[in-house]
Amino acid sequence: MHQTLLIASGNPGKLHEIKAILASLEIQVLSAADIDLDLQVQETGTTYGENARLKAQAYLSATGLPVIADDSGLEVDVLEGAPGIYSARFSPIQDASDADRRAHLLAELKGKSQPWQAHFHCTAVLALPSGECIERVGRCEGIIIPEERGSGGFGYDPLFYLPEFNATMAELPAEVKNRVSHRARALSALLPILQNRLIES
Ligand code: IMP
Repeated sequence: MHQTLLIASGNPGKLHEIKAILASLEIQVLSAADIDLDLQVQETGTTYGENARLKAQAYLSATGLPVIADDSGLEVDVLEGAPGIYSARFSPIQDASDADRRAHLLAELKGKSQPWQAHFHCTAVLALPSGECIERVGRCEGIIIPEERGSGGFGYDPLFYLPEFNATMAELPAEVKNRVSHRARALSALLPILQNRLIES
């Protein structure tokens, strides 16, 4: 019988990637939807780590299961790190879509000197029923381009260009994004801990 791990996210793009990144583990990875859990956690923290811990602990309290939460965002140098932890809320439009957020980002960048150097950040937290919380971060460097390219991934991916691949994040095959992304890096750093605490224990 495999140990169960719950992913504290309702974002389909993130969930898909997290499940793929953790696929090598002999573990049953579930989302909240898989267990009919509908939990809205207010991201009231002022850092990625605080928000990831809030999400992880809320899901752990609700289920008693070990939980992984990811809080992530895009930081653009010429916008002094914005949208950062507010990446999901970065549009004046109510119930904004990913496309609305990308349009707002380009509107904010209009007239600013290029290249628009940026990086994605991810803080991944593993919360264990013992009360232990383990945190790892990952980062991925790129450049924001003025026109969208590609249809893969989610969020800001069509605007995030990686010079070493001559492609945007949305043009990369999923298996490549899941090797080089901020999320892949943060979660890969948790893999040996998951192996040790959930599989070999
Ligand atoms: P969170 O749910 O508060 O972590 O929001 C993360 C937001 O950052 C997402 O809704 C996206 O807008 C953006 N984001 C995070 N990771 C990625 C990614 O891998 N690609 C594109 N956008 C991302």
